[in-house]
Amino acid sequence: MVRFILKQISPIARIPLETKICRPPNTIALNVFKPSQSLKILLVEDNLADVALMEDLLGSFSYPLFSLKTVKSVDAGVKCLQASGFDAVLLGLWVPDSWREINAIATLKAAAPAIPVIVLTDIDDENAALSALREGAQDCLIKGRFQRTLLVRAIHYAIERQQIEEKLRQQAERERLLTQTIENIRSSLDLVDILQNTVAGVRKFLKADRVLIYRCHNLPANPTANDPKSAIAADDGDPNLCQEKTQNITDALAVSCLLLARSDSPEVVENVSEAELDLSFKQLLAELGIAAVLSVPIWQSQDRFATSEVLPAEAWEAEKNEGALLDANSLLAAEKTHLEQINAANCQDKKRNCLWGMLTAYNCSSARHWQEWEVEFLKHLTFQVSIAIEQSQLYRHLAAANEKLQQLATTDGLTGIANRRQFDRILILEWRRLAREKFPLSLIMFDIDFFKLYNDFYGHLAGDDCLRQVARAIASGVRRPADLAARYGGEEFAVVLPNTAAGGAIAVARTICDRISNLKLPHDRSPIGPCVTLSVGIATTVPLTQESPASLISRADSALSQAKAAGKNRIFQATDNSQPSIK
Ligand code: GH3
Ligand code: MG
Ligand code: MG
Repeated sequence: MVRFILKQISPIARIPLETKICRPPNTIALNVFKPSQSLKILLVEDNLADVALMEDLLGSFSYPLFSLKTVKSVDAGVKCLQASGFDAVLLGLWVPDSWREINAIATLKAAAPAIPVIVLTDIDDENAALSALREGAQDCLIKGRFQRTLLVRAIHYAIERQQIEEKLRQQAERERLLTQTIENIRSSLDLVDILQNTVAGVRKFLKADRVLIYRCHNLPANPTANDPKSAIAADDGDPNLCQEKTQNITDALAVSCLLLARSDSPEVVENVSEAELDLSFKQLLAELGIAAVLSVPIWQSQDRFATSEVLPAEAWEAEKNEGALLDANSLLAAEKTHLEQINAANCQDKKRNCLWGMLTAYNCSSARHWQEWEVEFLKHLTFQVSIAIEQSQLYRHLAAANEKLQQLATTDGLTGIANRRQFDRILILEWRRLAREKFPLSLIMFDIDFFKLYNDFYGHLAGDDCLRQVARAIASGVRRPADLAARYGGEEFAVVLPNTAAGGAIAVARTICDRISNLKLPHDRSPIGPCVTLSVGIATTVPLTQESPASLISRADSALSQAKAAGKNRIFQATDNSQPSIK
C-alpha cells in the first residue's frame, strides 16, 4: 500500500466558490484551416477529358499541394472514402451512377459526413447548383469555367467551411447531451439517483473509461488511514477496472480531493507518467492503470454544509442502502459530534463554501488531452449537481419533518398510543370500508374505575404513570394489524376491531381486563378492590353507508355506562336492540 504524506494540506472549507456560473464555450474558432501537408482529394469522374483537366490543374504545382485519386463511379468513391481518409471530394455530376442515384451527394456524405464535397457540373443552372448545396455539397463549379486558382480556393474554403460545420454540429451535440444530463439529474430528488445519473451521463459524454463521484467529509491529513467518513458515492465505468483495488482507488480519490481543496481549480492530468505529481500519488495512479485524470470539485454553500447538509458516515451508508434502518439516537449523536468537528475545524467563516466532494473522470487505455470544453462542461455540470444535491437534501429534511409532524399529530403525548384524532380517522375509514364489504366492526370502550380517587391519593404524576401502564396493557391486547388501541380522552381508552364480530370483541376485552388485573396496580382508595380495575362497554355492528360511526360510539358508551351503573369492574355488551348485556 502506498503511503501519502500530505499533512500540510489546509482544511477543506477555506475555498470561495466561483460566483460566476460556468457555461460550456459557445464560440467557434473561425481560422480552423491551415493546410500544412498535401491535401488528399478524391475525384469521382468518368469523363476522361475532365479527369485529365483536373489532374493538370491540381498536379502541376512546383511542390505537391494535392494528391489526387480518381474513381469513375459513386459506388467506387464510397468504397474509397470508407477505406482511407480524404480531405475533400470533387464530384463530376455526369458520372453514370449519379444519374441513376440522384442523391449521389447524399450517398457520399453518408459515407464520410465530415469530408466536403465540391460538385463539378456541365450545366449552368442556378437551381441545380442550389439543390446540390442543399443536398450537402460545399460548392458547385461549372466545368470549363474555372481557373486553377479558383479551384484551389474552392477546395480550401470548402474544407474550412466543413470543419466549422463539424465543430458547430459537435457543439450542438454537446449542448444536447448536457441538457439531457442536467434533465436526468433534475428528474430525481433522490440523492443516490442524482449522483448515479451524473456519472453515467458524464461517462457517456466524455467517453471516459470510468467516472466517479467521491464524497469527502472531513478529509484526513493522511488519506491511507481508512477513513469511514469519505466514500465513493457513485461509480460508472468498466467493471474490470480497478475492481480488486477499491481501497487504492479510494486513496487516490482522497488525494485528488486534497489537491482540489488546495488548488481551487480542476485537476487536469493528461498523462500520469509525465505529469508533475507527488511521487506516491503518481505511483498509486500507475498501479491502478490510470493514464489520465480529470477531477472537478463539487462545492456546497457553507451555511447548508455547516447546519444540516453534513451527513455523518453512518447516515451516508444508510442513505446509500435503501431500506437500511437508522437508529435515530445514534444518528443524532453522530451528527452532533460531526457538526461540532466541522464547526471547530473548518467552518469558522460562514460566508465561504465547502468542498462537498468531487467528480472524477479517468482514462485508462491511454493518455488523454482533456479539451477545454470538457473541463468547462464538468464545471458547469458540477454546479448543477450541487444545486440538485441541495434540493434533494432539503426534500429529505422536509420529508423527515413531515413524518415527525404526522407522528406528533396522531400520537397521544402521555401514553404513546394513538390519540383521539387518529381514533376518529381510523374509525371512519374502517366504517366506510366495512360498509362496502359488509363485515362487522366492533368497538370497545374502557374507563378506569375511581380514577379521581386514585389521583387524589397517589398524586397526578402517579396517575399519569398508571395511565401509561394501562395504555400499554390495552395496546398489547390487540393483535391484528388493522386493530387500533387509542386514548379516547382522560382515563378512557378505545379499541377499534375491524372484521370482528361480538364474540371476538368480548374475547379481546377479557384479555385486556386480565392483563390489567395481572398488573396488580395498587388502588388503595378503590371501594371495590385493592387494585386498579376497568369498566368496559362493547358494541358491534355491520356498518351502513348512510349511517355514521357516532351510533357505534354511542352504543359502546351506553354499554360502558351500564357497566359503571352495575357496580364497575365488568364488561357490558350492547345488544342489537341497544339493551346492554353483562359479560
Ligand atoms: P368512575 O369510576 O365513575 O369512572 O370515576 P372516575 O373517578 O374514574 O371518573 P371521573 O370522571 O370522576 O374522574 C376522572 C379522573 O381522571 C379525573 C381526572 O383528574 C383524571 N384524569 C384525566 N386525565 C388525566 C391525566 O392525563 N392524568 C391524570 N393523572 N389524571 C387524569
Ligand atoms: Mg371517565
Ligand atoms: Mg373513570
